[in-house]
Amino acid sequence: MAVRDSKKQILLKNVNIFDVDKGIFRSNQDILIEDDLIKEVGKDSHVGEESPMEIDCSQKFALPGLFECHAHLTILINQPDEVKREILKECGIENNGQELELEKEVLKEFAREGITQIRDCGGPVKTLKTLKDEVSQGEYVGPDLFYAGPMLEKSPLTGEGNNKRWPGFTVAVNSKQDAKNIIEQISNEGASLVKTFGKFDIDVFKYLLDEAKERNLPVTHDPGPTFFHSVPMDRGIDLGIRCFEHGKSPWYVILQDDLKSEHDSLLEADPVTKEAFIDKMFSIGRESISMTKLKQLIDKMANRSVYFCPTLHVFKHYAEHPEVYREDELDKFKKRFEIMYEISCLIAKEVMKQDIKILVGQDGWNPRFTFNEMKLLKENGLSEPEIIKGATIYPAQWLGIADQFGSISPNKKASILILNRNPLEDIQNMKTAHLVLHNGKIVFQG
Ligand SMILES: [Zn+2]
Repeated sequence: MAVRDSKKQILLKNVNIFDVDKGIFRSNQDILIEDDLIKEVGKDSHVGEESPMEIDCSQKFALPGLFECHAHLTILINQPDEVKREILKECGIENNGQELELEKEVLKEFAREGITQIRDCGGPVKTLKTLKDEVSQGEYVGPDLFYAGPMLEKSPLTGEGNNKRWPGFTVAVNSKQDAKNIIEQISNEGASLVKTFGKFDIDVFKYLLDEAKERNLPVTHDPGPTFFHSVPMDRGIDLGIRCFEHGKSPWYVILQDDLKSEHDSLLEADPVTKEAFIDKMFSIGRESISMTKLKQLIDKMANRSVYFCPTLHVFKHYAEHPEVYREDELDKFKKRFEIMYEISCLIAKEVMKQDIKILVGQDGWNPRFTFNEMKLLKENGLSEPEIIKGATIYPAQWLGIADQFGSISPNKKASILILNRNPLEDIQNMKTAHLVLHNGKIVFQG
């Protein structure tokens, strides 16, 4: 094979490569990288005029660079200094006391941990575009960003509070014209997906889905606060949505018949009456669920090739640290997050038994939490190969970018995580990075 002088080549030698189709490692392979792309994968096929830089990776384990599938990166921006320091500490990033550019430090840490792509599920689109541009122009090291921009919902906005600190975090969609405008805007600002949340008028919602499809933007849906969903999961699947966020999202759809009737009789009730019903569901907990209905919903998910991102970490995290979420009524919120975690695990476990593609997402901004999500998915029954696929090929497929990302194959981006230990033996071995390449550049070497 002829090599042009101007091309920068790296040869990773004698490495075990994760095969995302078979879910196993192919032993003792070489990976030839040229500039930002994988050129060849195999053995002894590279005879260049100029010898590439060689790195021996004997006994190591190569994975495609990982995706974090549910982040909210813009929360790192506009934070007071004391919060910035707290977040850095939580992320395990050393702070030398200089002026902090938190988002840059954290993005760099994501990449260094081998998380070379992020799917961001909600935040101001202009801020996200700036981050993406800065990373792609090489101003600092960070993952490739694929973002939704604002969370979209009918007024009044559930997350209106976020707009004070991060204007444009959540945007109202009250008419077809609103839907048309926002999809056009986020598409022009480089969005890769659409995030719908909570309430919608159904005709506006359908119109929004059509507009998104027109612009090739896949839609992921969070039905919103627990119960009283205007686009519940089963309806969402019928309307064509192919990804849902949060393990607890099906809860309303799978209520026992009597509880579902009671719920539906309260659709027009006042907020206090609705809240009393919600309280009752949280006190009944898992007994409120019909396993038959859950299985029916999962069959529907399987039939329509729906992806599911359980974000188990976030519920466990807030159950253990309710003060991060709320300043008042701590006990109530702690209890609610404990139940949401329990319900999410119960639902995720059943979903995992079918051939549903699970995405690894933390619902936050901390590289460490991606690995914690993997640990929780494992504890709830997801196999190691499926966890790895849920952070590599599945998000690449869902985003429609599997021609460039998601596996170690010729012509894909040379973003590769090389581990010292085998993650199929213990998913915690994902944290034993030896070498990380992002678009052909070494961003971490242990
Ligand atoms: Zn989220």
